[in-house]
Amino acid sequence: CGIVGAVSTRNIVPVLVEGLKRLEYRGYDSCGVAVHQGGELRRTRSTSRVAELDTQIAQDGVQGGTGIAHTRWATHGAPAVHNAHPHFSGKRIGLVHNGIIENHDELRAELQNKGYVFESQTDTEVIAHLVHQLYDGDLFDAVQRATTRLKGAYAIAVFCRDEPHRVVGAREGSPLVLGVGQGETFLASDAMALAGVTDQIVYLEEGDVVDLQLGKHWITARQADGSFERVQREVRTVHAHTGAAE
Ligand code: GLU
Repeated sequence: CGIVGAVSTRNIVPVLVEGLKRLEYRGYDSCGVAVHQGGELRRTRSTSRVAELDTQIAQDGVQGGTGIAHTRWATHGAPAVHNAHPHFSGKRIGLVHNGIIENHDELRAELQNKGYVFESQTDTEVIAHLVHQLYDGDLFDAVQRATTRLKGAYAIAVFCRDEPHRVVGAREGSPLVLGVGQGETFLASDAMALAGVTDQIVYLEEGDVVDLQLGKHWITARQADGSFERVQREVRTVHAHTGAAE
């Protein structure tokens, strides 16, 4: 139901958790955070409130500069910790998703045939394994290719164990914004989630894929033939309290 993501050099977990708190008004049944830490992807997930997730994160010692976070409103798979996002594929790809993937059955069968083992009943987990299957050293490329296989609505944030300072986002039918900070970049389903962190916001458009790195970003737009072209999107100054663009 809500997404927050970041690429930074400071411990970004407090920003991710604060972002989730700002998205709580949307409603949710579970929540979770994952970060790049010590060369691995680490996560904490919970079916309780974000405030309790925060306590659990401290107990688990989860911290890092690159991460993704999610509040879930279950559509496929019961509200339960194993269905909560972030979903991992092979300890290599971590992913959060808002929306519904309509062709999840077909993709799941295809990926199971290739040996991917599913740990949840969500439609979302197919995206994590699909990105993993398409991954060949460049997460941005893998996510672009994965989106051409998805039917339905999504906003996603994805990161990879092998690329510690990178988060890739994509949207189609669900909102997603990019936040441009000083030497750090952010993603969120609503600019409100980034209030106090950055007021420099890019509203992503349908079919956009965004590459977040330290202090730089890159956006491509899917074309009618399924290829991608680089696009420039306007950075707007957004008033933190109202969420309105100037
Ligand atoms: N369809 C996904 C799920 O059930 C995402 C739901 C959401 O938007 O939170 O896990």
